[in-house]
Amino acid sequence: MDLHKSLVERLVRLGIIRSEKVRRAAERVKRELFVPSKYRDMAYADTPLPIGEGQTISAPHIVFMMNELLDLEVGHLVLEVGAGSGYHAATVAEIVAPSEVPPHKWGTVIAVEINPTLATQARYNLKEAGYLGRVHVLNLDGSAGAPLRREVDRILVTAAAPDVPKPLFDLLREEGKMIIPVGSPGFWGQELLLVEKVNGRMVTTKVTDVAFVPLRGRYGWS
Ligand code: SAH
Repeated sequence: MDLHKSLVERLVRLGIIRSEKVRRAAERVKRELFVPSKYRDMAYADTPLPIGEGQTISAPHIVFMMNELLDLEVGHLVLEVGAGSGYHAATVAEIVAPSEVPPHKWGTVIAVEINPTLATQARYNLKEAGYLGRVHVLNLDGSAGAPLRREVDRILVTAAAPDVPKPLFDLLREEGKMIIPVGSPGFWGQELLLVEKVNGRMVTTKVTDVAFVPLRGRYGWS
């Protein structure tokens, strides 16, 4: 039995994966290339796993639920705050820059990671998995945004923030979307929010309760 295939099929059956593009990306990216070798046999279990430095790669159902909510299109410029292993960024790159589309139409994922060891690891994993041209890893505090030349189409935050950081909202283009967990560290009391910019205003929708590691840095918890 192909564990990767059956995980994707289960998440489709459960209604977590709804669109063809999120499904295709889920099938394409090998999670086993992004987890530490000692956890490789658990790569296709629907569970978070340790990736070192006290951090975790999210459970697949969370990754694909966030990708559905982001409403990603080919060509989008996407900022991810919290690159971690690089896995989530790779699944986004498979949608905004799919391999069968010519590279001049590709979008880009800018994945920022505050921890230098994890940033190096993410870069290595993404290179091994074939995503280095489509995902750029920056080692910096992404809670305060990133040095980008233009506003971004989508923002994905994969660590729980005290509130929606203003510099991140400012980076978002009109009609842009951000997915961000907000709430205190620890396993209860965080909400996953869909944040949209409508006529310059912040429109927020609560999606579900979640448990993420804390966002650090200037607009984080420390
Ligand atoms: N998306 C990752 C998992 C994220 S775990 C994956 O697919 O593997 C959360 C990550 O956010 C951790 O690696 C942590 O170091 C990072 N992080 C926390 N605060 C940050 C900040 N202010 N800027 C950038 N990265 C941050």
